[in-house]
Amino acid sequence: MMPPVEDQVRDDAAATAPDWAVLLEDLELLVDSDAASCARRADEGIALAQVRGDRDAEMRLTYYAAVARHLLGDDRRSLELAQHAEELADHRGDLVWQSRSLACRGLVHHDLGDVEDAVDLLTRAVDLGREAGDITGTAEILNSLGTVYTGMVQFAPQAAQVLTEARRLWLQAGDPDRASIALTNLAKTYVVTSGRLAETNPRGALTAARHALGIAHQAVDEADAAGLSRTAVDARLAVVGAHMVAGDLPAAGKVLQATRAMLVRFPAPRQLLALHRVRGRWLVRCGEPLEAVEVLTEGLRLCDELDRPGERPELLRTLVTAHEDLDQTVEALERLHELYELTIRRNQAVAERRAELLSSRLEVERAERVAEAERKRAAALEQHNARLAHEASHDALTGLANRRSLDQTLARWTEAHPRDFAVALLDIDHFKHVNDTYSHQVGDEVLARIGAELRGTLRTGDVPARYGGEEFALLLDGVQALGAMETCERVRQAIAALEWGDLIGGEHVTVSLGVATGGAGTDAGELLSRADAALYQAKRAGRNQVRLAE
Ligand code: GH3
Ligand code: MG
Ligand code: MG
Repeated sequence: MMPPVEDQVRDDAAATAPDWAVLLEDLELLVDSDAASCARRADEGIALAQVRGDRDAEMRLTYYAAVARHLLGDDRRSLELAQHAEELADHRGDLVWQSRSLACRGLVHHDLGDVEDAVDLLTRAVDLGREAGDITGTAEILNSLGTVYTGMVQFAPQAAQVLTEARRLWLQAGDPDRASIALTNLAKTYVVTSGRLAETNPRGALTAARHALGIAHQAVDEADAAGLSRTAVDARLAVVGAHMVAGDLPAAGKVLQATRAMLVRFPAPRQLLALHRVRGRWLVRCGEPLEAVEVLTEGLRLCDELDRPGERPELLRTLVTAHEDLDQTVEALERLHELYELTIRRNQAVAERRAELLSSRLEVERAERVAEAERKRAAALEQHNARLAHEASHDALTGLANRRSLDQTLARWTEAHPRDFAVALLDIDHFKHVNDTYSHQVGDEVLARIGAELRGTLRTGDVPARYGGEEFALLLDGVQALGAMETCERVRQAIAALEWGDLIGGEHVTVSLGVATGGAGTDAGELLSRADAALYQAKRAGRNQVRLAE
């Protein structure tokens, strides 16, 4: 028989543990092709993971949410998410995901034009990835670090080094396809380096360009073999770049032709844009400015279509040269003006994003400082209150409980206490004599030491208190008449045996005690009176002795 419908629904809900592996695989694919959907699905997954208390899934999903936000240009949210993913990973001791989250932060900082932080974060990510033994993850991050270094004028050697390392790791992991991507990036780095050299050291540039060409050819072969058409186009454009630095325009033209043909067969928008950029430059160099204007203008249109404003400056710069070559001064100036405006706007945008980032960082720091001050204030207050409470219930000279506190404890014990107990009153014999002979200060010293002796002689559950003047009260827990008498006798003997040195000229101090027993239900006042009466008996009988109340 079928179970009732509601039961079935409930069972289904309980059984539907989300298949995180499938979702994460989807996200890995989506993040490149459709960042918006990736972000949305990651957010949904995070909510679910939080409901189910699955911190591991939450960590992984948060990472994808961060990467997707980065690709969507929402740097601030991306950083928040990446930081959260990193904290979750750190908390779980998961170095792999900590490394990936750090790398994501590094790439966001790179987009913000904050190159130092980008390098720092990516380097730390590499270290963590290595420590975790995550070979492909580390290779991926090294590859990113390499492209960051490539954009930094002085860091070509570092770029080459980390890209070579990325390639080595991918080969080690048995992934020659990814290895060919690292090789292509390496070729690009050599082309950029040789291009930079051309301005100051033409001969050195030529040697570097030949080297770049060798690497780029190898990258083409590998990318072709791997069937990675986009990487194959990138590698061919590196070959073109190397030929151009070496001044071999016909060779560059041939490869450009082949690349165009490839892109007709495998349309890849970003590579198409790169082709327009490189071909425009080549046409200008070949003395074909009219055609160059056409290609570069189409390139600008592609920038808008693909929403890649970052590629505009380079196209505009070449376009200015083409118009100049055509003696089109007005057009050249217009494009130059556009380039100028764009550069300023971009710098402003980067500055604004960095300022926003900084202010949110400062906000966090300020909130942390306020919380820390609040915490310290609360701790100080608590300490102060504890001191006040201690002062209100303890005697300053002996450190023992005071009368108020003893009365409270006694009230509690007579109200309800699981064991029998006794109250002893202790009075120092002839204390006036101590005061009179040796001074009030010496008397105080004697009181303090007797207090300490009481604390040392009694058991932990017992409560000694200074009851007033030179009189003490002792609450003795878990005793009946015999035990109470024994304890009091022990106290009496201990005090009588105290050595006072020259404080009171070799004299001894003795005490008299009266003790009364009771339990829960005994009247506190009556108990104290009985103890006091017993004490009086002890005094009357000659002092330095203990008396049990009737
Ligand atoms: P006994 O109890 O044996 O009958 O003689 P006593 O000399 O101890 O008797 P009494 O109660 O008459 O004297 C108690 C003295 O204790 C009087 C007072 O000056 C002194 N005293 C009370 N409180 C303190 C104190 O805090 N410090 C000092 N130094 N003396 C105190
Ligand atoms: Mg007294
Ligand atoms: Mg006395």
